[in-house]
Amino acid sequence: MYYSEIKYCDIADGEGVRTSLFVSGCRRHCPGCFNAVTWDFCHGKPFDKAAEDEIIASLEPFYVDGLTVLGGEPMEPENQRALLPFLRRVKERYPEKDIWCFTGDTVEALLGLPLRAGDTAVGEKYLPGVTEELLECIDVLVDGAFREELHDITLRFRGSSNQRIIDVPATLARLREGVDPEQAVAPWKDDPVFATHTM
Ligand code: SF4
Repeated sequence: MYYSEIKYCDIADGEGVRTSLFVSGCRRHCPGCFNAVTWDFCHGKPFDKAAEDEIIASLEPFYVDGLTVLGGEPMEPENQRALLPFLRRVKERYPEKDIWCFTGDTVEALLGLPLRAGDTAVGEKYLPGVTEELLECIDVLVDGAFREELHDITLRFRGSSNQRIIDVPATLARLREGVDPEQAVAPWKDDPVFATHTM
């Protein structure tokens, strides 16, 4: 896997202060994509042990709330495989910090469930032995493709209104309890101060 950038003390891509890893590679090519330079799977630098170590060290200070993974598309199959051991390492080292992930895929597509009306899948994203394990490392998933006609600058952490901010552990738990997939997706609960207005 390659990555285009690591941002430190990022306050735009998830709650609190974060380290953000922008991975390279995306086959979806949404019109109006905010970061089209990352569509190329070889853009930037190889994601090697030095980059991993740098991120792990950056998460140490008490004021850093967690890690965000975005791109590009973290859920492209080759990126999922590369991210799984790394996110496990982050979770093991910092169980108290959270991991956010931004994807153009929906959680339904990632888990091989029926898609909602209007959603599309680009290639097979459910990888047995990988995808579910990767989602288990993720606390919050911002899912869905960016849609220009639904673009709304007042949305917090999202570019278009079709995208959802999902509480992943709660969603996986509901699915395991047998809740119908159409009802299983649990929204992430925003701070009430932000949840009551759209800034
Ligand atoms: S999924 Fe994300 S990175 Fe890929 S084209 Fe759409 S907005 Fe850009």
